[in-house]
Amino acid sequence: MSYIATWADQKLNGNEIAKLKEDGLDVFKDLPELVKKPFSEIDPSYFMYFKYAGLTVQKPQTDGYFMMRIKIPGGRVTVKQADHIAWIGEKYGHGIIDLTTRQAVQYHWIPFAELVDIFAGITNVGLTTVGAEGDITRNIVDNTLSGIDPDELFDTRQTVMDVYHRFQGNYDYSNLPRKFKISISSNVYNSADAQINDVAFTPATKRIGRHTVKGFNVFVGGGLGMKPYLAQQLNIFVTPDRVADVAEVICQVYRDYGYRRSRSKARLKFLVADWGAEQFEDKVRESLPDLQTKGRSKVKGWNSGNALGVHRQKQDGYYYVGVSVPSGRITADDFRALTDVARNYGRDEIRFDHCQNMIIPWIPEDKLTEVEALPIFERFSIHPHLLADYGNTCTGAEYCNLANAHTKTVFKPLIENLDKRFAFDTPINVTMTGCGSNCAHRSIADIGIEGVHARTPDRQHVEGYKLSVGGSLLGEGHFNEPLKGVFSKEQLADAVASILTDYQDNHVGTETFYDYYNRQGTDHFQETLNQFIETLPEVLK
Ligand code: SF4
Repeated sequence: MSYIATWADQKLNGNEIAKLKEDGLDVFKDLPELVKKPFSEIDPSYFMYFKYAGLTVQKPQTDGYFMMRIKIPGGRVTVKQADHIAWIGEKYGHGIIDLTTRQAVQYHWIPFAELVDIFAGITNVGLTTVGAEGDITRNIVDNTLSGIDPDELFDTRQTVMDVYHRFQGNYDYSNLPRKFKISISSNVYNSADAQINDVAFTPATKRIGRHTVKGFNVFVGGGLGMKPYLAQQLNIFVTPDRVADVAEVICQVYRDYGYRRSRSKARLKFLVADWGAEQFEDKVRESLPDLQTKGRSKVKGWNSGNALGVHRQKQDGYYYVGVSVPSGRITADDFRALTDVARNYGRDEIRFDHCQNMIIPWIPEDKLTEVEALPIFERFSIHPHLLADYGNTCTGAEYCNLANAHTKTVFKPLIENLDKRFAFDTPINVTMTGCGSNCAHRSIADIGIEGVHARTPDRQHVEGYKLSVGGSLLGEGHFNEPLKGVFSKEQLADAVASILTDYQDNHVGTETFYDYYNRQGTDHFQETLNQFIETLPEVLK
């Protein structure tokens, strides 16, 4: 460790006091001895350290099972690694693999006693869980199609790995105030959701001397959670070879000046909001005074972060196949069947996007018809057209300790119900989270659904759901606006349908839901929902 913990004499929250005594990464030194004990002997105060190994103690927190996340920079795995991902799901995860919105995978039911062996197997195939959770640099997200993308300014894969290696397992950056999320993408449709990351590198060009140089503009201070913020732009341009330096200095500023008194105020977004972009940039430039001023942005839209469907790669004669995985949940058997497609037709590679889906690249043009006819694609669409293809869900009350309501088990019948009633020409993103923490990116959905604690008229506690409309990362971005009204899971489909019916009946031509929202405004949607609420025999509070 090459820094002084300047915050050590400040008023700190309990996690911070513990982290000064033992670093989060030390969990891997502790584990071989820990797993010899019964789980019941592990003090709950130690649970935060499991996070640094990509583990969250699963509820009930007495039983010794974990949610485990594998960190996959840029969401790219080899076929051998995909085989191992399937194997873990089959052997430990009750046959289920969940895909995340940060290009990673996660499991439930991982047993405490077998953690050391499980980690050895993960390391053996070149994967890791180190820093998949905890107050540390999380999975770095990239353009899902980097290197094969007709819409990228340049290939960002090496840049992502340079940044990954700068931070991974590095004790200089393993005691941050909270998590630190990095997005790197040169896709001109903002495929890596720049504005909702702590630091984002977006495609730009800059005239330097007599040359036009390709690189990145830099944004800081974005994030979702209970209080979402859109990232602010710094007046900085950086070439790909210096992205790791800039990311490192931004992380140093966060480590040394980020708030450590209250965890709810500890994300970088609060520091940037207080300082402003200018002051933050001045602090970065104290360490990197030679950075160029911002370049010409090459971002011209937002593709919602998904790469669904069958599309040409930038390499002649090759296609990638974006496979819809509804709710991001897939069985190990189905995961293996998709891996087999990559094994038999692709080039030893599978990718994960930002919307809980899978991509199989490098399908030769002369094999495309054969691939499209494979039985696995009857159940996992490669020709997306349903609401189910574009929705996301978080873990919810099934396993998450923080959830107010169930998600995946509610979302599946909900979206199937809606898909029977509606068919739209433009994609509409309906996303559900089990609380306000926003893990499945509910705030940037066209229609967001958030699980809440609710009461019936006779004051019985039930799981309820609230709606928001009008989220997007187009342009500077806009978080969806909450609507009044709480719905039971039985009422939810009709509540969402009232909004979709309004859009279906009144949108013009190819007007997207977001454009329609901007034309009509939040009040219009509230009035629509109010008309539905008036028909309900029982209204939740
Ligand atoms: Fe859990 Fe809430 Fe995150 Fe969903 S959004 S996984 S319920 S913390």
